[in-house]
Amino acid sequence: MAEHSPAVVIGAGQAGLAAGFHLRRAGVDFVILDAQTEPGGAWTRGWDSLRLFSPARHSSLPGRPMPPFRADGGYPTAGHVVDYLADYEKRYDLPVIRPARVHEVRPDGDRLRVVSDAGEWSARFVVSATGTWWRPFVPAIPGAFGGRQLHTAGYRGQAEFAGTRVVVVGGGNSGAQIAADLTAAADVLWVTRRPPRYLPDHIDGRALFDVATRRKQALDEGEADDAGVAGLGDIVAVPAVRQARGHGLLTARPMFARLDQAGPVWADGTQEAVDAIIWCTGFRPALSHLTPLRLRTENGHIATVGTRAVDEPRLHLLGYGDWTGPASATLIGVGPTARAAAREIADALGA
Ligand code: FAD
Repeated sequence: MAEHSPAVVIGAGQAGLAAGFHLRRAGVDFVILDAQTEPGGAWTRGWDSLRLFSPARHSSLPGRPMPPFRADGGYPTAGHVVDYLADYEKRYDLPVIRPARVHEVRPDGDRLRVVSDAGEWSARFVVSATGTWWRPFVPAIPGAFGGRQLHTAGYRGQAEFAGTRVVVVGGGNSGAQIAADLTAAADVLWVTRRPPRYLPDHIDGRALFDVATRRKQALDEGEADDAGVAGLGDIVAVPAVRQARGHGLLTARPMFARLDQAGPVWADGTQEAVDAIIWCTGFRPALSHLTPLRLRTENGHIATVGTRAVDEPRLHLLGYGDWTGPASATLIGVGPTARAAAREIADALGA
């Protein structure tokens, strides 16, 4: 027997909680199903030195500002974000059920059936907010390496790499932050597909949100695409990255062509012997639970208008990336997107 609920939110990371805040405000009854046993979403998995790229005052969900991390306004740790999200869901008494991993969402007459390992729900609307952390991406490179390989998602800190030689692959924020972190303990080879592109030092999460919002407005008004944040650069120069760069420790080499047992081999035949390779090569949206809906996908994303799936109007997608709203995958950006989704759902339900 399935429980009936007007709306079911899948995922209780920042995006799912923001959805809960706005659904409550809009007068819609809902439950939130989350696969983890503890609050905090992907922030529970970050490495020891991971820092937000903005101070707390620019990293808040709707309704409740994130408390300052330190009196000097320093950049919060992942642990600080977990505490904030745990407090957020408690303070707003959000109906989170966990652990409840959703295996599939399928059509069920005029409703959607949500099948989880904690039971089934029959919903008029589903908001999918399952993030990307759970689907690490590693590019296919020819050859086989004999040492240890891991992805950003498995990196916990420099201690286990002390005294070793490590290749860090990736020219984004994770690659730069992990390479910077490791320089204190290991011999680091940083490899990027193109020369690292740092954002100007004064740009933080707040500025990125503004740029993403302006881009969306421009595109909506039919203006040319200036590529938004991607047009400015790839790496936010957080203090640890600035420091390592300032000491000349972040010199990137171009991408290698293949791997052999000892390590990477470049197209010109140069090779390096290393102990480990850390792939900081990004994530993909965790959408496998939506497979039964057979939705049209573009670049691995589901086609959307705002947050609503084009081919399934009972489904909204939140977080994931700019394709569900400007900076929707950030703490500061998900609020406005969640509000828009909740409004649409409330209007359709006549709430
Ligand atoms: P998540 O936090 O991943 O939450 C999704 C939740 O859904 C999880 O609890 C998960 O267990 C659950 N779930 C997944 N699948 C299922 C399922 N099938 N059934 C039920 N539950 C499920 N953003 C910023 O604003 N500032 C930053 O400084 C910043 N730094 C970042 C640094 C790194 C290295 C990364 C990777 C991202 C960073 N981000 C930053 C981006 C963003 O804030 C995070 O990725 C954020 O965790 C996304 O939140 P979310 O709620 O969309 O997803």
